Amino acid sequence: MTTTHCPYCSLQCGMTLTRSGGPRGPLEVGAWESFPVNEGALCRKGWTAAGLRGHRERLTTPLVRETLPDGTRGELRPASWDEALDLVADRLRDLRAAHGPDAVAVFGAGGLTNEKGYQLGKFARVALGTSQIDYNGRWCMSSAASAGLRALGVDRGLPFPLADVERTDVLVLAGSNLAETMPPAARHLDRLRARGGRVVVLDPRRTPTADRADLHLAPVPGTDLALALGVLHLVVAAGAVDEEYVAARTTGFDEVRRSVAAWWPERVERVTGVAADEVRALADLLVGTAGTGGRVMVLTARGVEQHSQGSDTVLAWINVALALGQPGRPGAGYGCLTGQGNGQGGREHGQKADQLPGYRMIDDPAARAHVAGVWGVDPASLPGKGRSAYELLEALGQPGVDGGPDGPRAMLVLGSNIVVSAPNATHVTRRLESLDLLVVADMVLSETAAIADVVLPVTQWSEETGTMTNLEGRVILRQAATRPPEGVRSDLEVIAGLAARLDAPGTFSTDPEEVFAELGRASAGGKADYSGLTYDRIRAEHGVFWPCPATPDDEPDHPGTPRLFADSFGHADGRARFLATEFRGAAEQPCDDYPLHLTTGRVLGQYQSGAQTRRIRDLPDDGPFVELHPMLARRLGTADGELLTVSTRRGSMRAPARVVETIRPDTVFVPFHWVGANRLTNDALDPASRMPEFKVCAAAVTA
Ligand code: SF4
Repeated sequence: MTTTHCPYCSLQCGMTLTRSGGPRGPLEVGAWESFPVNEGALCRKGWTAAGLRGHRERLTTPLVRETLPDGTRGELRPASWDEALDLVADRLRDLRAAHGPDAVAVFGAGGLTNEKGYQLGKFARVALGTSQIDYNGRWCMSSAASAGLRALGVDRGLPFPLADVERTDVLVLAGSNLAETMPPAARHLDRLRARGGRVVVLDPRRTPTADRADLHLAPVPGTDLALALGVLHLVVAAGAVDEEYVAARTTGFDEVRRSVAAWWPERVERVTGVAADEVRALADLLVGTAGTGGRVMVLTARGVEQHSQGSDTVLAWINVALALGQPGRPGAGYGCLTGQGNGQGGREHGQKADQLPGYRMIDDPAARAHVAGVWGVDPASLPGKGRSAYELLEALGQPGVDGGPDGPRAMLVLGSNIVVSAPNATHVTRRLESLDLLVVADMVLSETAAIADVVLPVTQWSEETGTMTNLEGRVILRQAATRPPEGVRSDLEVIAGLAARLDAPGTFSTDPEEVFAELGRASAGGKADYSGLTYDRIRAEHGVFWPCPATPDDEPDHPGTPRLFADSFGHADGRARFLATEFRGAAEQPCDDYPLHLTTGRVLGQYQSGAQTRRIRDLPDDGPFVELHPMLARRLGTADGELLTVSTRRGSMRAPARVVETIRPDTVFVPFHWVGANRLTNDALDPASRMPEFKVCAAAVTA
C-alpha cells in the first residue's frame, strides 16, 4: 500500500493506493484517515482516480504527424522515442536559428508537480533560451495571486491551514462552490455552523454550497466588485473600522475610504441586483461580529476572480478584511481557494512568464544572479519576462504588432488541454493549428494532442513521484504506486531527452528527488523558500508549509509556516497595503442581440477540461447542458431536456436545457468540461493578472 494524493484539485486529498495482481495490476483507492486535510474523505473523482490505469485510450508510443506528398498534414502515426525526440529537437533548433529563441514557446500546467514545473521553467530559459513560457494556472488563480502579492506581500492561497475555517465566526465565500468542487472541504463549513458560526455565499447560482449558507447573495455576474465596495461603505459608515489595526499594520486606507464613499446600498442594488437590505444584512453581520471581538474570514475563488476586474475584486475583499482588523488573527483573515492540483506550486517555481523559482521575479537582478548560479549559467543569458498565457496563444504564428516581436512558431505543451480550456477557444485552436510545430506531452489523445505534430506519451500520477503544493501552501508528496506501461516516459525524462539533444548547459535530472533538492536550492531566500524541505520530512510530517528555509546542520529544522501574517505582512515594511479600486463592470454587457449573461463552471463528477475524468467509466458523463431559470425557459418556449443554442460574439454551441430555480433569470450557466463552453467565453483580460473573463459574457439563447 502506498500513501499518496489525488491527481485532481488543489485540496490534494490524501489517499492510499493498493496494487493487486503484480506490478502492472489494477490499483485500488483507499482512505488515508490520518492525512489531516481530508481525514480519509474523498469525492467521487478521487475514489475513481485509478480508472485511467490500463485504460484502452492510454497512449504508449510517441506519435508523429505524416506529411503528405503535396506538403499538407497527414495522420498521426506511431514512432520510436528517438525518432520523435530527434525530430522535435531538430525542428526547435532550426526555428531558433532562423528566428531567434522566442520563436519557440512552452506551455505548462497547474497540474504538473513542483519538480516538473521547475524543470520546465529551467528548460525554457536554459535549453531553449526563450522568454515565451506561461501556464494554464494563469487562468485559474492569477487574479488572487496578483492581489495577494500587491496587498499582503505574499501570494499563498490560504495563509492558514484549511481547518482554521472551523474557528472563524463568519465565513464569506465569494464565488466558491466548494461543496460541489471539493466536497471533503465542506465538512469544515458543517463544523463551523455546528459551533454557531455563520456562512455567507456570494454566487449568481444557488449552488449546493449556497444551500448550506445562512445568507446567500446572488449578484449579477460581473458585479462582485460593486458588492464588496458597498460592504466596505457600510463598514465605514457604521464606524466599525478597526482604526488601531489599520494604523499599526496597514497603509493607504484614506484613499480607500474615499473610494467607497459613493457606494451606498441602493446604488449597489442597482448595479448588482442584490437588494439593498441584503447588502445591509451582510455588512451588519460582519460589523456585529468583528465589532464584538469575533472573527471574520473571507475566501475568494474563481467565481469572483475569473473576470477582467478579478484582481480588483479580490483587492476589495482584502480591503474589507483589513478594515475589520482580521488578517493575521487566528481563524480570521483573507484567503483564496486555489483550483488546480498544483496551481499554487506551479507558479512558485518558474512556469509563469515573469517568475523564477522561489517566487522570485525574473526582472530582479539579484533573483537572476541567484538562480543562474544554481543553474550554472551566466545571469545575462537568462531571458526576460514573456507573454502571459492567453497573450502567448494569441501571438502564435502571428507577425509582431506595432513593431513588436513576432509570435512563436513552435510550442511544447505539457499537461494542458488548451483546445477545451482556453477562452475564445475556436480562435485559439486556429492559432495552434498555424504553428510550424506543436508538440504535446499527454497520457491520452486529448483534443489538443489530436491536432499536434508530435505527441509524447507520458506517465500519469500513480506512476511517478513528485511534490505538489496544496491550497494551504502545504507541500505534499505524491508517491508512485505502480510502474508505467511499456513505452511511456515521465515528463522529466522528456525534458532531459530534449535538453540533451539541444546541448543545454547544466544538468536535467530525471530523478524527482534530485530535482526537488535543486529546486530547494534555487528557491532559497525567495518568498516561497523550500530549501529546508526533503522528501523524508514531507513524508514524515504529512506535508510541510512554506516558507521552510534550510537551517545550519547544528540547528533544528525550520518547522515550516502554517500561518502567515501574525506579526508582519510580506512587504519590506511589514505592513499590508489598502489599494483603492474603481468599478467598471464586465467587459461585455447584455445588448439586444445578446441579452443574457453567460457564466461557466464545474460539476461534481468532472474535472477541468475532462481529458481524464471524461474517460473514467464510473464518473457520470452526461455531456454539457444549459442551466436556465423557469421564467427564461417559458420566455424561450423551451423545457427541460430540449436542445438549446447558446451564442456569443465568438461562437455557439448546442446542449440540452436544464431548467432550475437556482439561477438568476437573466443568467445561463454552462459547465466547461466539454468542447463548446469556451468557444463562447470572452478573452478580455484583467490588466493586472492577465486573467481572461471566463465567468461572464453577453449571450443569446434560442430554442
Ligand atoms: Fe480529489 Fe479534489 Fe475530490 Fe479531493 S476534493 S478527492 S483532491 S478532486
